[in-house]
Amino acid sequence: MSGDGDFLIVQPGVEQPSSLSVKNIKRARRLSAPEYLEGILRGDRAVLGRAITLVESSRPQDHQLAQDLLQLCLPHTGRSIRVGITGVPGAGKSTFIEALGMELIGRGERVAVLAIDPSSQLSRGSILGDKTRMERLASSDSAFIRPSPSAGSLGGVARRTRETMLLCEAAGFRTVFIETVGVGQSETAVNDMVDFFLLLMLAGAGDELQGIKRGIMEMSDLIAINKADGENTARARLARCEYETALHLFAAQPSGWTPKVVTCSALSGSGIAEIWDTVLEHQRTTRANGYFEIRRRTQVRNWMQETIEQGLLDHFRADPRIAKKLPELETEVAAGRLTSARAAEILLDVFRRP
Ligand code: GDP
Repeated sequence: MSGDGDFLIVQPGVEQPSSLSVKNIKRARRLSAPEYLEGILRGDRAVLGRAITLVESSRPQDHQLAQDLLQLCLPHTGRSIRVGITGVPGAGKSTFIEALGMELIGRGERVAVLAIDPSSQLSRGSILGDKTRMERLASSDSAFIRPSPSAGSLGGVARRTRETMLLCEAAGFRTVFIETVGVGQSETAVNDMVDFFLLLMLAGAGDELQGIKRGIMEMSDLIAINKADGENTARARLARCEYETALHLFAAQPSGWTPKVVTCSALSGSGIAEIWDTVLEHQRTTRANGYFEIRRRTQVRNWMQETIEQGLLDHFRADPRIAKKLPELETEVAAGRLTSARAAEILLDVFRRP
């Protein structure tokens, strides 16, 4: 590390009052990409937090630095187990993640919990972020919890979450949970960035009621019927049989993995350890048959593709000629005076003009 970054290093034995360190961080000049990397690899949570803020930033001047940092982090990424967790509000996601996270910490692991919350873009109220969640996990040194980035399209939010995941991996978190609400489009985005997809369900509520689409069940590697405790235990067992039957109707997964249905209680902790053992079994199976590697490679190729498409779209929309012409043509199309295809052609022609 060059002398330039030394101001960030707290000398051993010197207690820094917390107010002072916060001020220092605020006053600190921008770090360079190698300085960020050094802090992240050292496991410095303040630097990790700042790096995440950097990749979440929409300021053009931050973009290059963020990308330089991610490129530097790349050799230190990819070594975690990435698990997506979804379920409708109230299914018990935060309780479950806390229970599973504490189980993993007990096994000596370090856990990062990230979220993609589509609701936070639509309204200021966020389904995943508005309550005190995962208090025990949040206070553990072995866990790192980051709420959903709130600005931008789902594509933009998904990209920031992916990049945050890479930063967390470089910081030594070997398990990453990505939580989302099982009601919208975000499950596909999450599925595209994880190795294992877990659906949390409740017994006694029909699929319609739970708003879970067939497609989400189809992409799940494990369905866990939560709240299998007290009077609810028998109903949960019954639901398990029903979901097992339903899963049989789906086509075999390309991963060679047969999705499982289990019951658990996030509140009492029963079934939680077994769920993690299932995740590990899935890792072993898919690593042995090559699917793990294929899936990760496909994901990075898709991310590149998506980023190109998003970039082209941003470029298109930012063109002043397009900004001027677009509303006019939209009116024409909406009024039925011009076909959508013709309007699109006109705009693309305008865009291609030097
Ligand atoms: P989320 O909206 O999916 O994150 O759900 P929460 O984790 O906030 O849980 C919703 C409610 O269900 C809370 O009151 C939890 O205490 C309760 N809950 C979560 N898991 C269980 C469980 O396994 N058993 C029971 N009985 N209640 C649970």
